[in-house]
Amino acid sequence: MENENRVDEAEALSQPFPPPRRFGFLRLWRQDSAISLALSLALALAMLIVLVAFNLEWSEEKSAVPTIQVTAVSLSPSERADIELSDPGAGGTEVREDDVKSSSSPAAENPGLVDAEPGSSSLESPVPGGDDAGDEAVVDAAVADVDKAAAGIVKAREKSVARKKAAAEANGGDVPISDQSIRKLFDGRKSPGERKKLAMRDGGSRETEAAVQLGLVWLANHQSAEGRWGLHDFHGRHNCGAQCTKPGVNSNTGATGLALLPFLGSGQTHKSGNFKKVVLGGLTWLVNDQDPKTGAFASIGAGNMYAHGLATIALCEAWALTEDSWLRGPAQRAIGYVIRAQSPSGGWRYSPGRDHDTSMIGWQMIALMSGRAGGLLPKNYAQVMFGASRYLDAAQVGGKLGYQYGYQPGGGAKLAMTAEGLLCRQFLGRKRSHPGLVNGVKHLERNLPGQQNLDLYYWYYGTQVMHHYGGKPWKAWNQSLVGTLLPLQAMNGHARGSWPPLGNHDGSGGRVYATALALCILEVYYRHGKVFVE
Ligand SMILES: [Zn+2]
Repeated sequence: MENENRVDEAEALSQPFPPPRRFGFLRLWRQDSAISLALSLALALAMLIVLVAFNLEWSEEKSAVPTIQVTAVSLSPSERADIELSDPGAGGTEVREDDVKSSSSPAAENPGLVDAEPGSSSLESPVPGGDDAGDEAVVDAAVADVDKAAAGIVKAREKSVARKKAAAEANGGDVPISDQSIRKLFDGRKSPGERKKLAMRDGGSRETEAAVQLGLVWLANHQSAEGRWGLHDFHGRHNCGAQCTKPGVNSNTGATGLALLPFLGSGQTHKSGNFKKVVLGGLTWLVNDQDPKTGAFASIGAGNMYAHGLATIALCEAWALTEDSWLRGPAQRAIGYVIRAQSPSGGWRYSPGRDHDTSMIGWQMIALMSGRAGGLLPKNYAQVMFGASRYLDAAQVGGKLGYQYGYQPGGGAKLAMTAEGLLCRQFLGRKRSHPGLVNGVKHLERNLPGQQNLDLYYWYYGTQVMHHYGGKPWKAWNQSLVGTLLPLQAMNGHARGSWPPLGNHDGSGGRVYATALALCILEVYYRHGKVFVE
């Protein structure tokens, strides 16, 4: 109590006026030294904490403040822990003014970025605090990832181009027609307006179109009651009797497929046009004739793979033109059969999987392309095409620089086989400037259609090659073709509208075959679009 009184006296002497009694706590402060000391320490500690916290917040420079050591007051372990928690980098260095000043430099903000090698990820250098720097690091890393991915894509694209180039080189420079292009194969025949426009543009006329209509009527009148056609028995309906001469061999499948082609070729389907019942009858007969498991046709008859190829073309075209669902399965199965029937040489012949000749490959090639136009080919069809190219290489006369084709490898060049081989090359992607095509076209130009080479088979393939090629060779060809072909159409009696078989290749086909081919030839202007590689 003596101490208490002494303090009281000292306070009283040092101040002119004693504090008002109503401020009791001040009196207590002066009078209770122990409490005063504790209050002072608490106040100092609070101020220090506020100062330290404010300093850290203001500087935003935690990384440059690795350690905060509070020396002014002795802190309890829990108080120290509170401060340390606010600064994970604390570790024994005093807060200095220099440190605070240096916090404004970018290097101090993120020392990890300063020493980093160019291009290295800053994520590899952990940076305590510094959220902005962290964001930059994440963005840099993301950019680096995008660059890496882009480089990968470029590399993959280069590899793909190199692969295609190598494949093209291995394929004699031929680059396959794209899926996108081949899907347009039948676009020209879909509407009467488009057909007329293309016919007038490319050398057709009212006369050629009238000839087509007349020929279709004759074919319609010589369809059997079951919906099929026969190369040998077209006398069976509409009281033809023997009025129309020159029947062919027995092949109902081949005749039905072939007779459907000029209808479909001029856009006549079971859904639209002037011959819906006729086309429906033919298609229905083919579908019923097909083995639903193997895709083979039961009434195949003479020619075998010829007949299968013709029936396949008809089904694929009908599917592509109408996308009527009941046709898809039969068309797909027929295409599958063609692919399985390819012989190891890459060609086809009468029996599936055996032997080869150039005459057979053309029908199978058109069947495959017609299937492709309808999206029916399997993904690995390219192998089938490469196989066909290998066969054509072998059948080409004159080696790599050759432009003519023989009936079989090692044989002499034949005009009809040359035309057929050239069309196959076009469908396989041979460029217009390829010497094998340029010289082939010149060869056909030297052998324009005329009385000297009456051969519908040759004209059928040659006309397609020349039309796809275009230019002056096509004009010359077309003029000779029309001038020769139209006068050969029968204009009288029951045979009115038909063509008799003309050349050596046409005899076994007879009048149905000759008429169907002649009509397809006159439909060339719109039957197949110019989807070929320029
Ligand atoms: Zn008749």
